Amino acid sequence: MKDSVLVINSGSSSIKFQLVDPSGGAAVADGIVERIGEPDGLVTLRHRDVDAEHRGPIVDHAEGLRLAFSMLAEVGLDLAGAGIAAVGHRVVHGGEVFYRPTVITPEVLAEVSRLSALAPLHNPANVIGIEGAMRELPDVPHVAVFDTAYFHTLPPRARTYAIDREVARAHSVRRYGFHGTSHEYVAGQVATVLGRDLGELNQIVLHLGNGASASAISGGRAVDTSMGLTPLEGLVMGTRSGDIDPGIVTHLRRSAGMDIDEIDTLLNRRSGLKGMCGVNDFRELSRLIDAGDEDAVLAYQVYVHRLRKYIGAYLVELGRLDAITFTAGVGENVARVRADALAGLEGLGIEVDPVRNTAKGRGARLISTDGSAVAVLVVPTNEELAIARQAVELVRAG
Ligand code: ADP
Repeated sequence: MKDSVLVINSGSSSIKFQLVDPSGGAAVADGIVERIGEPDGLVTLRHRDVDAEHRGPIVDHAEGLRLAFSMLAEVGLDLAGAGIAAVGHRVVHGGEVFYRPTVITPEVLAEVSRLSALAPLHNPANVIGIEGAMRELPDVPHVAVFDTAYFHTLPPRARTYAIDREVARAHSVRRYGFHGTSHEYVAGQVATVLGRDLGELNQIVLHLGNGASASAISGGRAVDTSMGLTPLEGLVMGTRSGDIDPGIVTHLRRSAGMDIDEIDTLLNRRSGLKGMCGVNDFRELSRLIDAGDEDAVLAYQVYVHRLRKYIGAYLVELGRLDAITFTAGVGENVARVRADALAGLEGLGIEVDPVRNTAKGRGARLISTDGSAVAVLVVPTNEELAIARQAVELVRAG
């Protein structure tokens, strides 16, 4: 227990938490507090084979955490009493200030809160979760791990938008990238699976979950990524549009009379797969496609087309490619997406083996043919473990 880390991922109405043993990598317990602020709040957690559940109103994040901790104590894990090494918090936007795991002080918290201007949908929820957890566990170091941090190394040509430099500087408008913890973790796993040095590999990592992003990684350092100032840019996602002509925003403002919040909601919550065909979960999308739903078929085609565009762009940027890796909910589970994303690329040395691609498996695995010059892999991401390791490393170093 003393060495374990509580990892907290706080959203606007939910908190995901996991107690992780950073050396062995096992999740000792995990759970979720949902529907905070609504009458039908719900806390579910699992420790070993024991499941626990609480239903009832949860007024705020602090109460949600208090409930979760008392439920953990009931199943035999007394976080406050037995002690843990650290609490690791996932923080979405670190802006230009934070690019390393950082011990949370009142000043750090104020800065994370200030960065809400860049991430209004994410950072405020992160701040509330941190405050709640610090109140519940005041004697443990709390560490922020930033989703943007890994992309700190993007070269200026990849992080700069071609807009007026004064406006860009005054408002911190540049590309930051997100899902960094996942891209970094997965790239490291690829080196382990291939038995090669991370430093010698050129890789493309495709994180395809509800949110989705692609990155180009050379020698372990990110050189490009598909998300930008916000997590809205890039690939087609569950409910987000990804790349669009920025002229659409002004057009909708002027011609459709939509205000800026409506457009924000449209692009973040009513677009992507859901916008195009009504569903954002790939299992439902697959059912609709199999049933011949035309909108679902088109949505899937748009999704794959965008993915292929990024793969092509990053292949050219990297020049030489050693590995392409699929991760997160869709990347790990949907063989059809992996096959279609890389179909017909044999001439570029990329060849997916259909048997390996569709074989049942959960762990990291190779799905390319033996003759493929580029290794194609599926690697389960584990952001909680990566956050736990970074938090404990920082706390021990201090
Ligand atoms: P996030 O962390 O961004 O919420 P995940 O990485 O958990 O997302 O991915 C969630 C998405 O992955 C789901 O919306 C669903 O589309 C897809 N997914 C997860 N599991 C499966 C599965 N077994 N088969 C098909 N799609 C799946």
